[in-house]
Amino acid sequence: MDFSLTPEERQIRDTVRAFIEKEVMPLEPEVLRNEREGRPGLDPDVLRDLRAKARKSGFWGINTPEEYGGAALGPIMSAIIAMELGRTFVPFSFGGTADNILYAGTEEQKQRYLIPTIEGERRSCFAITEPGAGSDARNIRTKAVRDGSEWVISGEKTFITGGNEADFVMVFAVAEEHGVTCFLVDRDMGWKSEPIPTMGQWGPASLVFEDVRVPEENILGELGKGFELAMQWIGQGRYMIPARAIGSAERMLQMAIDYAKIRKSMGQTISNYQAIQWMIADSQVEIEAAKWLTLYAAWRVGEGLDARHASSIAKLNGAVMANQVVDRVLQIHGGMGYTKELPIERWYRELRLLRIFEGTDEIQRRTIARNLIKGHAKLGLIGE
Ligand SMILES: Cc1cc2nc3c(=O)[nH]c(=O)nc-3n(C[C@H](O)[C@H](O)[C@H](O)COP(=O)(O)OP(=O)(O)OC[C@H]3O[C@@H](n4cnc5c(N)ncnc54)[C@H](O)[C@@H]3O)c2cc1C
Repeated sequence: MDFSLTPEERQIRDTVRAFIEKEVMPLEPEVLRNEREGRPGLDPDVLRDLRAKARKSGFWGINTPEEYGGAALGPIMSAIIAMELGRTFVPFSFGGTADNILYAGTEEQKQRYLIPTIEGERRSCFAITEPGAGSDARNIRTKAVRDGSEWVISGEKTFITGGNEADFVMVFAVAEEHGVTCFLVDRDMGWKSEPIPTMGQWGPASLVFEDVRVPEENILGELGKGFELAMQWIGQGRYMIPARAIGSAERMLQMAIDYAKIRKSMGQTISNYQAIQWMIADSQVEIEAAKWLTLYAAWRVGEGLDARHASSIAKLNGAVMANQVVDRVLQIHGGMGYTKELPIERWYRELRLLRIFEGTDEIQRRTIARNLIKGHAKLGLIGE
């Protein structure tokens, strides 16, 4: 068993870390100011310039296949890079990526949706959740009715990330007797969006489809096979979500350690108190556990092994870990932790989402338990 990175992998990690420290972290005060004055944290022009700069340094299309101009670094490096990106709260990610399910498109769909998304010319969103169907995604009611060579879509989607900015949506609808099907629907085909304010900085949107007519050739994948595509899309996030959270938790824990070493109470720095030391120790133990569970899930994806069980474990553990760590870090900072002068309260609000989207804690626990009870996953195995 080898836990080391190759020299090239280490170099990539170090270069990303240097880029984040030099180019992205300096934007943190500006992001906080913008958000607190009601503007997007990163101005779109600043984001575009940053991505262009990153692209020049070779950071573009991290997990995108080489035939589409990407770096194809694979799941483990993608997870490690996400950990590095998570060290800042600046809402930045490298460009040159597209939703994994767009690769299931026809050649024409790839030209119209996949490639422009990779190039950053078009923005996508993924819409399965409805007001009456969240965890119970099989219960969606948005319907698609055939009319000649077109499908007519009606229904409502909710909590759609990027739904207010997207140029097209990958929407899941029940297509008559065929069942759940994924349609690629351009905004100008007629769907409407409305932002939903949340406790986080970026709001998702609700989408309304009122008899939106979509040509047959806009079905992504096969008629009636949409649910499998939706699970494939969600599956990729189950190791990337905890990966990014690990970077955030490590950065915050370092802030807590630095603060504990200078903050005095009752004649001593608070780092001398066991109550504080235990919070620091427990946080590192949980971060390390999350790191290896996440990398294990990513490794399984990279090896082409069934990663669903490992990914559910990593996502559940990582989401809970991040929320525990940010709470302890806030506690160690006392009243200062609760102010808007520091970014901790921002992280606190943002990380709360991790326990809800792309499968809540409860749904991950349900999946893990069912896999064990039904024998799809076994205890006591190492390296298989
Ligand atoms: C900011 C944000 C962004 C999002 N982005 C997207 C997106 O881009 N696309 C998209 O399609 N969706 C998106 N979602 C939706 C998200 O995936 C759902 O909110 C999530 O799946 C939970 O569904 P729900 O909100 O309907 O809660 P519900 O399913 O109603 O759950 C309510 C509570 O009941 C629990 N529960 C439900 N069923 C069970 C069960 N069988 N056993 C035990 N407990 C159960 C849940 O865990 C939860 O605690 C987003 C949500 C948010 C908040």
